[in-house]
Amino acid sequence: MAKDDDIPEWVGAQDFYEKYEPKEILGRGVSSVVRRCFHKRTALEYAVKVIDITPSDKMTADEIEEIRNSTIKEIDILKKVYGQENIIQLKDCYETKAFFFLVFDLMRKGELFDYLTEKVTLSEKETRKIMRSLLEVVQFLHSQNIVHRDLKPENILLDDNMNIKLTDFGFAVQIAPGQKLHEVCGTPGYLAPEIIECSMDPHHQGYGTAVDLWSAGVIMYTLLAGSPPFWHRKQMLMLRMILAGNYQFTSPEWDDRSDTVKDLISRMMVVNPELRYTATDALNHPFFQQYVVAEVRHFTPYRKFKVICITVLATMRIYCSYRRAKPVTKEVIKSDPYALKPIRKLIDACAFKIYGHWVKKGQTQNRAALFENSPKAIMISLAAETDDSCLRMM
Ligand code: ADP
Ligand code: MG
Repeated sequence: MAKDDDIPEWVGAQDFYEKYEPKEILGRGVSSVVRRCFHKRTALEYAVKVIDITPSDKMTADEIEEIRNSTIKEIDILKKVYGQENIIQLKDCYETKAFFFLVFDLMRKGELFDYLTEKVTLSEKETRKIMRSLLEVVQFLHSQNIVHRDLKPENILLDDNMNIKLTDFGFAVQIAPGQKLHEVCGTPGYLAPEIIECSMDPHHQGYGTAVDLWSAGVIMYTLLAGSPPFWHRKQMLMLRMILAGNYQFTSPEWDDRSDTVKDLISRMMVVNPELRYTATDALNHPFFQQYVVAEVRHFTPYRKFKVICITVLATMRIYCSYRRAKPVTKEVIKSDPYALKPIRKLIDACAFKIYGHWVKKGQTQNRAALFENSPKAIMISLAAETDDSCLRMM
């Protein structure tokens, strides 16, 4: 990668364009555009993140320098984490005076966020697979003293086999063991309470790796409920809800979910970071211990007979309770369609298809919130809605 300040503007860019042919846009970030690209010699496809550092009216020289420095840090971290199974791999990179080109493996299935909006909610089984991989990544990052600071479904990509790949290390930082951070960054709905506290109190003791566990808890909640735990039309009120750890396992979304999964989420979303689960604690929780051991049982004839008796009795019990259950009639569907899980899913999916975003479910919850998560928003909202001078400076 070129480092020389006197390097002509086009040199790195020419190297990139000689090797790759950029194609359509796959996604956009605050200061980047990600495109599919084509490696000319091998005909293999990749994704290139193009970060614009061109001087313009929109950005001050200081802002451009900040983006440049944070991109150099992002590349450095991506090189340090290279090879971890569930982290996106940086294959190649180029730097010019106007752009950075970061070439990654192409994730054709896109973001976990889009998968979730299409599926509405995920099952506990699917959530277990995704969260186990995510927590293993977080455990690995924290063992290297790396804090990601922007865990959210938009930054989790899916490969062809639906395995997750964590991406966007733009806010990631490597700290010394025990070192505390004070910088306010991340995405509003996923911010840990201690990050928000730092923005309000210049003498705050700071935060560490535990912030990623809070965000992982928010992701887990969102995957199962189909909507985020914290949302309010006014962002300042949403931040207050986070500070108080004010979230509920509301009905009907959580009616069919196990106590085990709710227990794990409530141990990850603990306001006090000292009492919050670490990634290792979470991976050791009973939620992840289920269905792991493939047990091979050898039954004696007596035990076989006992199992058959229990199965017959259970079948009869299910049959009787099935007959007692109220049939789903037109009247039931008309009076409260949202109470029936398959119909609820159908309504949500249709609404998403028609409007392109979730429809409002109640006064305090709005699925459109999932589409309002931009890292920049927090700075604007905090600066606009509080009198704290420290925030204005952000
Ligand atoms: P930013 O730091 O600007 O948020 P990201 O690295 O998160 O940039 O990329 C923005 C979006 O581009 C992602 O949310 C995703 O939709 C898409 N994207 C990024 N990397 C890839 C990839 N390797 N394969 C497919 N899509 C990608
Ligand atoms: Mg991103």
